[in-house]
Amino acid sequence: MEIYDIPLNSEWLKVFEDEGIRYLYPPQEEAIKKLFSGKNLVVAIPTASGKTLIGYIAILRAFKMGLKSVYIVPLRALAMEKYEELRRFEKFGMKVALAMGDYDSPAGYLKYYDVVIATSEKMDSILRHDLEYAYNLGVVIVDEVHLLGEASRGPTLEMVISKIRDVNDEAQIIALSATINNSQEIAEWLNGEHVYSEFRPVPLRLGVYYDDTLLFEDGEKVEIKHDAINIGNLVRRSIELGGQVLIFVNRRKSAESLAEKLRRRVEGYLNEEDKNELYALSDSIMEEEYTIYSERIAKLIRHGVAFHHAGLSNRHRSIVERAFKNKWLKVIVATPTLAAGINLPSRTVIVRDVTRYDGFSSVYIPVMEVKQMLGRAGRPKYDKYGEGIIYARSEKRAHDYMEMYIRGEIEDIESQLSNESALRTHILALIASDMINKEEEIFEFFKKTFYGFKMPVENLERKIERILDFLEEYEFIKRKRLLLATPLGKRTSDLYIDPYTAIIFRKCYEHNFDIFCILHTISCTPDMNPIRAKRSELEELFSLAYTHELAIDEFDVDQDTFFGALKTASILMDWIAETSQDKIIERYDIGPGDLHGRVELTDWLLYAFGEIGKVLHYPHIRNVENLRLRVKYGVKEELLPIVSLRGVGRVRARRLFDSGFDSIEKLKRANVSTLIIIPGIGRKLAEEILKQVK
Ligand code: ADP
Repeated sequence: MEIYDIPLNSEWLKVFEDEGIRYLYPPQEEAIKKLFSGKNLVVAIPTASGKTLIGYIAILRAFKMGLKSVYIVPLRALAMEKYEELRRFEKFGMKVALAMGDYDSPAGYLKYYDVVIATSEKMDSILRHDLEYAYNLGVVIVDEVHLLGEASRGPTLEMVISKIRDVNDEAQIIALSATINNSQEIAEWLNGEHVYSEFRPVPLRLGVYYDDTLLFEDGEKVEIKHDAINIGNLVRRSIELGGQVLIFVNRRKSAESLAEKLRRRVEGYLNEEDKNELYALSDSIMEEEYTIYSERIAKLIRHGVAFHHAGLSNRHRSIVERAFKNKWLKVIVATPTLAAGINLPSRTVIVRDVTRYDGFSSVYIPVMEVKQMLGRAGRPKYDKYGEGIIYARSEKRAHDYMEMYIRGEIEDIESQLSNESALRTHILALIASDMINKEEEIFEFFKKTFYGFKMPVENLERKIERILDFLEEYEFIKRKRLLLATPLGKRTSDLYIDPYTAIIFRKCYEHNFDIFCILHTISCTPDMNPIRAKRSELEELFSLAYTHELAIDEFDVDQDTFFGALKTASILMDWIAETSQDKIIERYDIGPGDLHGRVELTDWLLYAFGEIGKVLHYPHIRNVENLRLRVKYGVKEELLPIVSLRGVGRVRARRLFDSGFDSIEKLKRANVSTLIIIPGIGRKLAEEILKQVK
């Protein structure tokens, strides 16, 4: 089937042709034919086999009929990607919005858009604020629906789908999935059609590598001598065959050290163009804002290798991705976060580690995740086939991995909704958004979820009872004839925080608190993700606990959280004392990505902390607002008036302040020539500052 055979405006379809899509892949054809029936649809096909197109066609079909759609994705980076792609249709009058902003922002304006792209958490928060939004929807695309089975994000996704269906059973749900075993079951749950295919546009050859042997699934053996770093020659073989290599390891440190070790083995394969481009990128890294990774990344990419993990800054991550997409970079050594994110195909994928540390011991990574990594192999249009190889330390293990991961079946996905913390949050949300007012209705609602589709909801009875008791005891709901949320309950739900977070906040308000205590409290909540404390740091952290009066003690939360929160609070204290980013990163052995991630979360949770304080009528809110701004910008209080100027930031604000420009008033009296003598302030920025203050 040709793209122009789809019964839509040919001008719209030309957008796809321009991208290189002329003929539909067989599963795309099947799915697109089915979606035109208007029924719900579950499409399970391998990674990189063109699921997105199916979603876009459904959106265009809705647009043609004057219906609205949403595209729900798991990550913000993916939302950005889809947004940029869908904006290609704006010239045909389609209004496209990326639902951004924090979880407490009003959502009413979104109903004026034809397509809204949101993460599942954002969509959930939209529905909490404005359930009516769901009435207007014609089509709902759910990307990566197999994430229903993931403990941390699954429940939210399941609730979003269930809520939309509960409010508006006319909306067509198009769920896109990896090839999981029980996708048929999801289709039955959604009462929809099912398309399953293992078709891949670029065939994938899977194999294992051990000792000196690369053994493919079909029995073919290739001799490749292993070297001091085991996979060095395997990597070289792939590059010699004309491809790039993506290697997955289980720890950040391993990603960094393996990339270092591969340097000498890869550099010989760079041609002049590669070198020119990589050198230019390397120089640009050194000219920009410095992080501890700047030098290492800048140095490594000159040799055609890089590492990639969540500790890198966004900027560095995107440079590495771009250099790889352009084929200048030959090898990336990454942690699995990369497999879940952006589309970055490579001819060869090597999974070096199939185990990971789960906090207690080393465990095998699920088949689903390993297949997802291996499935990244093969670049459409460039490669005749891709190679996905698992490294094993012995022949015995190699055979085990072949059975387990290559020939083995992907695990069925199971609903994660029965998790107590998820239930607590979502039951409160159902009551607070007035979807449910009676206890029986909770059961009715859960019958319609994926959980309820597979299991008798009576299994949840005791848990739900306990949760209602808990919500009542802590004054989130009133439970008389009807279930009603209190102002605290409503605010907690709208703020998109766990009720337990609100309880921890309250405990802090009841305490006589200082800044350290607030930051520690915030870091103890289930909505934070405190930086893990190392064993060697425990003693120091323990004494720190004694020098402060903390609101949350070792009995309120588990030990890991308690100490992690102490470490996180210390990091944040250094941050707002204007300690340089490098120093913080070095002192605590973390990455810039870790620091910025926590700053962003703390900014959000301090807002929530202040809001909960308001509902409970506690004083001191002003101090909390100031603290929030200090965390946001990483400054001492005295810089607050000037740091929020566009283009200024913590370092320049300090320089301005120390040069005597310590208030907006003083800046008003400044001129370009007095400002440009301050290091880091050029003419353009000086003009920009003056424009803002005047
Ligand atoms: P996924 O299934 O992982 O969502 P994508 O939708 O991102 O995969 O598709 C991967 C790549 O394949 C994209 O670059 C897309 O442009 C391309 N593609 C999709 N369908 C076709 C097609 N029918 N012909 C050629 N290229 C296609």
